Amino acid sequence: MWFDEDQQTKSNDRVIEENSSDEETEKCTCHKGCSTRSCSCFKNGSGCNSSCGCNGTCRNMFNHLEYFFGNDKKYSAHPCFAQWLKKTVKNADALQMIDREKLRQRIIKSENYPEMFGDYDNSKEWKKKNENEKLLDTQSLFRNLMSDEATDLYYSFCQDDVCDSDNDWHCAICRRCMDWRVWHCDKCNKCSWGSSLPCERCGDSNSDSELSDYF
Ligand SMILES: [Zn+2]
Ligand SMILES: [Zn+2]
Ligand SMILES: [Zn+2]
Ligand SMILES: [Zn+2]
Ligand SMILES: [Zn+2]
Repeated sequence: MWFDEDQQTKSNDRVIEENSSDEETEKCTCHKGCSTRSCSCFKNGSGCNSSCGCNGTCRNMFNHLEYFFGNDKKYSAHPCFAQWLKKTVKNADALQMIDREKLRQRIIKSENYPEMFGDYDNSKEWKKKNENEKLLDTQSLFRNLMSDEATDLYYSFCQDDVCDSDNDWHCAICRRCMDWRVWHCDKCNKCSWGSSLPCERCGDSNSDSELSDYF
């Protein structure tokens, strides 16, 4: 079961190394705002940090992801969740009005979820939890399926279902979840079908794209 404490301890252990490297590599150069697509942090679905140029003026709504993922460390949003958030809310205030229980219901009522994890809602384990424990549990579910740690499985808002990262991935540029055989051609800036085939438009090969590293 993925809700167990083992996993939480594991992610806690990694806090130190990850935070230090994140701060050097992921930052934006905005001087104010960060509420638009021109901010690289916003684009990546992550909050700003102290090395960004925006301090004090930052209105990046992804600074408030602890609402979904809890406070134990800084998480980014999975690209599919990030896109859904951008579409659903305009700012941090609206983000914190999202009904977390409704979102949880959407996930656990999806087609694949019960097949993969069973009817957790009707389990004794869930029923005996108090409100606070339920919230922690919900945030753990969100981290596992909607954050940058959702690497094996993730919740696809495009497909309204839990997806296996080996079979599906979200193209942030084309704004859609794609089959694993689809790859994003940097030259055309569009996705093309066939992981070993050249781009259907320009004929460029997949070999130098970022994607081929994953397969
Ligand atoms: Zn920014
Ligand atoms: Zn930033
Ligand atoms: Zn910022
Ligand atoms: Zn998607
Ligand atoms: Zn694409």
